Amino acid sequence: MPNRFSYLIVGGGMTAAAAITGIREVDRGGSIGVIASEPHPPYNRPPLSKALWKGTPLNSIWRTADDAAVTFYQGRTASGLDVRNKRVTDDRGVVYDFEKLLLATGCRPRTLPFGKDQIIYFRTVDDYQRLRALAERGNHFAVIGGGFIGSEVAAALAMNGKRVTLIFPDEFIGSQLYPVELARSLNAFYREKGVEVVAGARVTGCESRSGKPVLKVRDVHTGDEREIIADGVVAGIGVQPNVELAEAAGLTVENGIRVDASLRTSNPDIYAAGDVACILNPSLNQWRRVEHEDSANSMGAHAGVAMAGRTVSYEHLPFFYSDMFEMGYEAVGEVDSRLEMVTYWEIPYKRGVIYYLRDGRVRGVLIWDIYGLVDGAKRVIAGTTASQLADPGRRLPWRRDLGVGAPGP
Ligand code: NAP
Repeated sequence: MPNRFSYLIVGGGMTAAAAITGIREVDRGGSIGVIASEPHPPYNRPPLSKALWKGTPLNSIWRTADDAAVTFYQGRTASGLDVRNKRVTDDRGVVYDFEKLLLATGCRPRTLPFGKDQIIYFRTVDDYQRLRALAERGNHFAVIGGGFIGSEVAAALAMNGKRVTLIFPDEFIGSQLYPVELARSLNAFYREKGVEVVAGARVTGCESRSGKPVLKVRDVHTGDEREIIADGVVAGIGVQPNVELAEAAGLTVENGIRVDASLRTSNPDIYAAGDVACILNPSLNQWRRVEHEDSANSMGAHAGVAMAGRTVSYEHLPFFYSDMFEMGYEAVGEVDSRLEMVTYWEIPYKRGVIYYLRDGRVRGVLIWDIYGLVDGAKRVIAGTTASQLADPGRRLPWRRDLGVGAPGP
């Protein structure tokens, strides 16, 4: 006999946790099944590379779902979706029937073609615990990638007294996000903190010697090669969405699973949300697949409510944030260093605002080391043109734009 659920969720992360809450807002008793690859209940991912390295306890990350009508199937991966019969099969051959299905399958890390068991592609709580255990006994860590994971994990390890070598192909940390002068200052900042920053370098191999990983690292400009011997290797070289189930079932997939404003896929009984879903954002008029916590939580909650029968229109512009040592920021919209950027620094590279512009309009705002201004930033994205930004009569305009000391809209 197949398991039968009013609501079946594939994926057991933050999106799933939010969706359960969303369903329960509308339907108090409907049966919910969750198929999750990880052998854990849902948990918050951001602390894994931030707060847990600053003294926050591990038990703070779990998302409690104290609900007798929710059944978790952990350590299982959905391997088949039969759209016509509304049925999912997992990797053990167990069958689940659904009335409404949510695909919250998230992303998986990109990997390198070598060093399989020696490199921690940092994403899950198990990855965190593996790195923690290595950090208990090892001293030197190599971190590959200069994006979110690389910059956060390198800072976390260095703050815990570890020697860190950070390796990435770009010239600067966060080159894809920040204006070049800020990114350059980050290289210097990390070096001041004791991190060896190996910029403009690719890892070309990884072998084991005397039980330790040995990386081969090639300079992208000179071709010179060197070896780095470490006690542990962490990589954050990007992720790819888990769309295979949706693709094989014939759902529309284009940079993730396409959904409409009610989080529905091309099949009206199947929804998708979180990292794996691609939705048209009305304020940017752009199809977006966002790989951040706020998107997982807000999309998941809306999808849950929608699955339970209430009309929703998901128009949320998600924000994200990052911490690097004592510095941090919040950001919203299109934050991409290929766009035109206008910067206002109160303290150069320490406190200020970066506007990202395309076609004469503000598309994204990054607020460096100032908090609580995300709603103001969204208003700027909704209404501010490049000519307004360029007005020479404006003094410290970003403070007024973002609503500091000013009444709300
Ligand atoms: P990411 O931010 O996209 O960064 C990937 C980095 O890896 C880039 O610097 C890239 O450099 C580099 N890279 C790519 N191929 C490489 C290679 N072969 N060797 C060395 N470096 C290589 O991705 P991530 O750091 O892996 O993060 C994974 C996901 O977690 C993302 O979805 C991210 O949004 C999420 N996350 C978010 C936060 C946050 O919001 N604060 C924190 C942690 C994780 P090039 O630019 O030169 O290709």
